[in-house]
Amino acid sequence: MRGLYIGRFQPYHLGHQVVLQKIAQEVDEIVVGIGSAQESHTQENPFTAGERVTMIAGALKDLEATCYVIPLEDVARNAVWVSHVRAMIPSFEVVYSNNPLVVRLFTEAGVAVKRPPMYKREIYSGTRIREMMLSGANWEGLVPEPVAAAIKEIDGVDRLRTVGKDDGG
Ligand code: ATP
Ligand code: MG
Repeated sequence: MRGLYIGRFQPYHLGHQVVLQKIAQEVDEIVVGIGSAQESHTQENPFTAGERVTMIAGALKDLEATCYVIPLEDVARNAVWVSHVRAMIPSFEVVYSNNPLVVRLFTEAGVAVKRPPMYKREIYSGTRIREMMLSGANWEGLVPEPVAAAIKEIDGVDRLRTVGKDDGG
């Protein structure tokens, strides 16, 4: 059985990792869909799809299940989004998500959806980690080690700070 897990992963953190470790015990193969793949170099979405693939691939080496990491660009029409996702990834029987729109669209398409419980959401949140990066707080412990290494290699914190500045004009 194959399961699908979708997120923007800006960045991928230990909350995602805990969820995927549990999913790996339920399915043989996991497709990790990187949402809003076309976005990068903004405060909300600092990292490119390719950078996110690198981060996630390093973290998934620990998992038992076979994983595919596949970027998914947004489409302007929610009504065709499930077809778009299906066209881009291997077939799957179950989707794991808590995002209300994602849950709604897959349910309407007749796909089984499971809602994994949040793991320490007040600590492990992409928004919070980006805020910590901006303020100079110690964020490295909130992500798997390969993710922290990948972000350092691309000077990701400096990018995040730069894209938040205006031109002073
Ligand atoms: P952001 O704050 O940028 O939205 P995020 O932490 O919510 O980041 P996403 O990439 O948006 O991360 O989330 C992907 C999926 O992971 C979503 O379904 C989200 O609900 C889930 N998720 C986020 N944080 C946790 C967590 N701490 N435990 C379990 N699941 C989580
Ligand atoms: Mg989110």
